[in-house]
Amino acid sequence: MGGCCIPITFRGTPREILAQLIAAKEVTSMRKEEGWHIYQPDEDWTYIPIYDERLCPTCESFGGIWNGTLIPVQLPDTNSEHPNERLANNERYPNTHVTFPHLRGQCRCLLHFDDYLRTLAERLMAEIEVIVL
Ligand SMILES: [Zn+2]
Ligand SMILES: [Zn+2]
Repeated sequence: MGGCCIPITFRGTPREILAQLIAAKEVTSMRKEEGWHIYQPDEDWTYIPIYDERLCPTCESFGGIWNGTLIPVQLPDTNSEHPNERLANNERYPNTHVTFPHLRGQCRCLLHFDDYLRTLAERLMAEIEVIVL
């Protein structure tokens, strides 16, 4: 799963290449520990309603792809706990019926950060590329 294939060319003397590799390792360790802020412009999220007779028109209209930056703005009650499911690292609960309190019952939808490992690997490679260039 995941990964990407951005080639990085190391150039210079052995001493310079070693310095680049060490810097790349430091960036990688830091990102492994800290990750990145969520909901960035390079993130595609899929809003997934449950299509049954209980689905409300608002949740239905939200079904589809969302750019990461829109989620905190338009679905500010999104959180990492879902009432009915255990969420993976790349899933969130949109909590749409709290954001729009005129909606009855409880939102059952799911937000899924698509291609999440590849997106994170691309960010990391872009940061390493800057060190190497
Ligand atoms: Zn709804
Ligand atoms: Zn919903």
